[in-house]
Amino acid sequence: MPEGHTIHRAARDHRAMIGGQRVAVMSPQGRFAEGAAQIDGAVCSTTGAVGKHLLYHFDNGKTLHVHLGLGGYFVCTPQPADPPREVTRARLESATHTVDIIGPNTCEVLDSATMDAFKLRYGPDLLSDTPDPDRAIARIQKSKAPIARLLMDQKVISGIGNIYRAEILWLQRINPMTRGMDLDTAKLRSLWDEMRALLQVGVEYNSIITNGDLPKAGQQIGERTNIFAQPTCPRCDGDVVKSKLSTRTLYHCPTCQVL
Ligand SMILES: [Zn+2]
Repeated sequence: MPEGHTIHRAARDHRAMIGGQRVAVMSPQGRFAEGAAQIDGAVCSTTGAVGKHLLYHFDNGKTLHVHLGLGGYFVCTPQPADPPREVTRARLESATHTVDIIGPNTCEVLDSATMDAFKLRYGPDLLSDTPDPDRAIARIQKSKAPIARLLMDQKVISGIGNIYRAEILWLQRINPMTRGMDLDTAKLRSLWDEMRALLQVGVEYNSIITNGDLPKAGQQIGERTNIFAQPTCPRCDGDVVKSKLSTRTLYHCPTCQVL
């Protein structure tokens, strides 16, 4: 599944391709035909992301909500684009670009009422232009659940995937099983700030880089992590412990992560 930063990056990229333009919307596969009709021909005023949800806002008050899920992906091409593949759920076509949405988990049109309900369902987004850490911190401090679980709970906070979870807890020296209620406000504020900074790096370089080793201009790189999928801890050289939490693999250093 794509991590949150990739969806923010897609929101930014797609904004450059179709934002401010009149957009033809169709569903080559047919499953999104009704939704497409509601936004076809409207102007895409802007795009944004909440966690792994991508939102395209249109000037007729409607919002296209896309969640790729495990197997979904985007195909973006400058015009003139090839005809869409049969599996394409939705094609968004501006004068300059085509954005194809293929195999998403969710592809639906929200009106203002369902958009308000959507906002209530998801915790504050780490990369929001109007960040709201206090709401996330309050939710965490009310919970007896382990912090590693809370960070992946989209009702608590939006934007953290499995790799970032392991990395951020290691950077902040927090044991993954520490209960939310046992972390003080200053620590959670520092956790929020570092998560936001790491995700901003992720969007900028379109890759997960958590060890500060930033690529040179134009250099294409993969993930650069400290502890995720690593055998030993780069801080103490001890063995990294691999475990399962909420069906996802968690990595942590029992020596360094003691808070
Ligand atoms: Zn260590």
